[in-house]
Formats: sequence, structure tokens, C-alpha cells
Amino acid sequence: MAETTTKRKAKRAGAVAPKKGGSGEELAIRQRSDARVERRYEPKPSAASNVKALALWAGAVISGAGFYGQFLRAEDKGPHALAGYLLAGGVALATGAILFGGRAARPIRVGDAGLAVEKDGGEIERLGWNEVTAVHLTADMLTFQGSGTSIGISRPELRDAAARALAEARARIAARLEGLDTAGLEGPADDSAGDPLALDPPQVAGLHCKASGKLISFEKDARLCGYCGEVYHKDGVPPRCATCDAKLRA
Ligand SMILES: [Zn+2]
Repeated sequence: MAETTTKRKAKRAGAVAPKKGGSGEELAIRQRSDARVERRYEPKPSAASNVKALALWAGAVISGAGFYGQFLRAEDKGPHALAGYLLAGGVALATGAILFGGRAARPIRVGDAGLAVEKDGGEIERLGWNEVTAVHLTADMLTFQGSGTSIGISRPELRDAAARALAEARARIAARLEGLDTAGLEGPADDSAGDPLALDPPQVAGLHCKASGKLISFEKDARLCGYCGEVYHKDGVPPRCATCDAKLRA
């Protein structure tokens, strides 16, 4: 019994959530302790980041040659006439690469808890699907906007993460994608890309039920929408999710 339950959950968690609203629609209601997963994507070097690396390398080589010419040549020869220029030019090139080369993209996570970006120092900034208010798409960036946070996914460097995020958003919070022109961009999400990670149960005590407003004092009283992660009190679960319209009660 336990094994079949685990298998069913793993299958659901591993695949992009099925479309809502079909006949025989599965109930999306979840317990807080139900297994949740996400996938972690490392940025891949893009053309821009390669140019930056090349400029850094060239800057180091040129300033190194300048340093040699200025300070390390045999004493009887003295500093080379061009050494100062090489040194200054090399340092300027490397500095320019650091200042104008753009920030490297950070690892992104996509899954049952929404989207997340890994910050410096191991901090993870999260944006739940239920917190997404708008989605923007440009040639370089797919951005999920919330009221206080927005998470941008660099399309050149995080192609698989962007495809996955778009596919999951389509299945979970389709209403937020209305008006977004994604023609030609929605390749199938590659299920083998990214590293699957198990998520800890969400911290929900102290939150209020989205439908009834009732305070959730105990974690065990919380119920979650399996699609968007919206939080409800067990006594206030509506027939359909107030945020994403998934069916929660028979
Ligand atoms: Zn929902």
C-alpha cells in the first residue's frame, strides 16, 4: 500500500502536471507532508560569458607581458618602451570584462514549490506558483513576477530551466500566461535535464486560508493545492482552487 502511494506521487512529481479541467479530473488537494520535488539547473556558458572569459584571459596575458617588460627584464636593458602601455591596457581589458561582462546567471530550481534562484552564501529565494502575478518573455529572459520578488531565467544560459518553467506554468497557472507570445519557444521540457531534489514540507503555520481567511495554527490543519501550492485550512477547502481553478473537492 505504502509502496503504491509512493510510486504514484513520484510519477506525478516527476512529470509536468497534467492539464486541468478534463473529464475525470483528479483532485489536486494535497497534505503538507506529501512528497514534493523540484529540479535544479546549472547555467551553461553562453556566447556572452565566453567573450567575458576570453577578455579576462587576454587581459591577464597582456598585463603579465607588460609587468615583465616593466619590472622583470634584465637590469642592463631597463623597462621596455611599451611595457607601461601593455600593463595598463591589460588591466583595463580585464577590468572592463568584469564591469561590463554582465553577472553570471545563477542556478535555478523549478518544481512543486514554484521557482527558486540560488543566491550567494547558499540562500535560496523562492517564488511559489500561487505568488506569480505576471510572466514576461524577452529574447534573453523569461521572468516570473510576484508582488515582492521576481525571478528571471536567462534563456541562453538556462535553456532547459526556461523550457521547464514555461511548461509547468502552462499546466499549473495557465491564466498568468494569457497574452504571452510563446510561439516557437515551447519545446517539450526535457525530463532528463536538471537534477531532481526532494523538497522539505512547506512552513504553513501562521498563514491564513486563501478561501476562508481562517488562521492555520497547526501544520496538520493545512491543505495545499497540488498545482499552484495555494494554502487552505482543512475546514475551508473550496470546490476549486481560488488561485488556479484546480478541482480540490469532489
Ligand atoms: Zn491552485
